[in-house]
Amino acid sequence: MASASDRSPALFVGHGSPLTAFEQNDYVQAWRDLGRRLPRPRAILVVSGHWMTRGVAVTAMAEPPTVHDFYGFPEPLYHFRYPAPGSPQLAARTAELLAPTPVQQSQRWGLDHGAWTVLMHLYPEADVPVVELSLDGTQPPAFHYEVGRKLAPLREEGVMVMGTGNIVHNLAIYDRSGRAPPNPVAEDFRKGIQAKLERHDHQGLVHALDGSPAARLAQPTPDHFLPVLYVAALQRPEESPVYFTEVTEGGGVDMTSFVFGG
Ligand code: ZN
Repeated sequence: MASASDRSPALFVGHGSPLTAFEQNDYVQAWRDLGRRLPRPRAILVVSGHWMTRGVAVTAMAEPPTVHDFYGFPEPLYHFRYPAPGSPQLAARTAELLAPTPVQQSQRWGLDHGAWTVLMHLYPEADVPVVELSLDGTQPPAFHYEVGRKLAPLREEGVMVMGTGNIVHNLAIYDRSGRAPPNPVAEDFRKGIQAKLERHDHQGLVHALDGSPAARLAQPTPDHFLPVLYVAALQRPEESPVYFTEVTEGGGVDMTSFVFGG
């Protein structure tokens, strides 16, 4: 059994627009500082709100492509490459851990912008192997939480699990100038999620999207919230979230990010 000092951290990162790739701001700086501070992982398993599939899949290729999964952004973004290697071994190990749930070894996807706009700042040398794990869009939150629990051995094997999404993600109330204050209802939802993380209320997190008006405003669709559940599922009894970003962009996208064990 690994000691706390050699157990890999698990983290959730609130990601911004693809433009984050070329920005210099406080949260980008926080990601860079974190990458220098954390112990260097053997590999990273990323759960991104931007890869929704039927069934569960992992990127199994040795050289995952950089996926430009967005429209209408400046041309240079479409030429950017984050050339981190993949890890077919980690893809296979993930499938082993999730059995009997079938895990497709995908040769089709790659690293989407939920992954690479963060990883390029965390690990600018792109020298840590990265595998993405998809979200099975046919499954309820409890399924995603259980998948997260099954990933726990990875923390003992030098693999850092990173969820990337947003605790609040509503582009309909997003102000592109970025200056709108946080929506108070969405702000309450975010604080509620943080309180649940702090008191290890994982069942509360699994049910956080159940029908309240605040949840519907904060998360009109579940994709950017589900990665929180994978990371929460890896929280150990002695671990509290350590926040490394606490800002809201444009009133509708919350960047709150946290790490366990780092
Ligand atoms: Zn996103």
